[in-house]
Amino acid sequence: MKIQEIHLASRPEGTPTTENFSLIDRERPKLEDGKVLVKNLWMSVDPYMRGRMTNTKSYIAPFEVGKVMEGGAIGEVIESRNAQFPVGMKVSTMQGWRSHFASDGNDLTPIPPTPLPLQSFLGIMGMPGMTAWSGLFYIADLQPTDTVFVSAASGAVGSVACQIAKIHGCTVIGSVGSDDKADLLKKMGIDAVINYKTAGNLSKALATVSPQGIDVYFDNVGGDHLEAALNNMNDFGRITACGMISNYNDSEPQPGPNNLLKIIAQKLTMQGFIVTDHWDHYPEFIQQMGQWISEGKIKWEETVYDGLDKAPDAFLGLFEGKNTGKMLVKL
Ligand code: NDP
Repeated sequence: MKIQEIHLASRPEGTPTTENFSLIDRERPKLEDGKVLVKNLWMSVDPYMRGRMTNTKSYIAPFEVGKVMEGGAIGEVIESRNAQFPVGMKVSTMQGWRSHFASDGNDLTPIPPTPLPLQSFLGIMGMPGMTAWSGLFYIADLQPTDTVFVSAASGAVGSVACQIAKIHGCTVIGSVGSDDKADLLKKMGIDAVINYKTAGNLSKALATVSPQGIDVYFDNVGGDHLEAALNNMNDFGRITACGMISNYNDSEPQPGPNNLLKIIAQKLTMQGFIVTDHWDHYPEFIQQMGQWISEGKIKWEETVYDGLDKAPDAFLGLFEGKNTGKMLVKL
């Protein structure tokens, strides 16, 4: 059996290309006692992986050049010499970007029987869903009276954040990069959606759709979106700094927003967060999200690329808005 892995071939300068990745064939590992062989079924590509391609100190170690990359994946045990992980068991791991891998079980989390599609544990039921939920409730202290602005609003995190805020009773405004994405969000019940690529001045567009101002900004984009949000924040507004995807491929730092004075004048709170710091709340999240899904209160979208060799294209597509909902690779 052939095993395949995607390695980081070189570190990108600016926007990555497929040249930064290489597809490597390997011999299948011999299984010692206590080990299992896992075949990956689904893997996730995520914007944070761009940071790991660069050799800078951050909250997570960089990928190593010439070594296999890592990321969230869902797999199935196909051979087992470990009674705790029998053949057929479905597991969640951080061993993405490869077709198979051997494990002693320490890096495997069994997925309990579920009526939901397995890949939802990489999206709405997994890290992105948990990011939206914890960012709204634990960072922004979401209140039903809030007007909430969400950028990258049709993506994995943003689309869930928009819907959770609606369920909570908030007025929700999203920003997206196409009319199709805007239509989808409107169908999901989002109150107003801005296509930032055609809206012109984003601050003015936001003021037009939200004359009452913004109480919570869930920032996935940074740059011009952060500046526009700052211009429209109400007194004591809260900004959840979740991501700044518009900066991730910069080879030189961008100038900051020119209106940080608004933080003082409007008495704003802006807090960054990393979802893994909130993982002790995951059982609470999964219970709540499972209930919303079973009640039909929340929906999700997926964009699926087929085959491990397409993983770099799927990853690069995140920076071109090629996904609606969670970007996934089916192996
Ligand atoms: P998405 O599914 O939202 O995919 C990325 C989307 O970002 C694209 O579809 C595109 O949508 C939009 N985008 C790309 N480039 C730009 C740009 N220059 N300006 C504006 N929009 C852009 O990804 P995720 O939901 O996985 O992640 C969303 C954000 O959340 C990211 O910033 C990510 O780093 C962050 N994140 C943070 C976590 C944390 O713990 N703090 C955890 C998980 C994610 P469009 O067509 O609308 O432009």
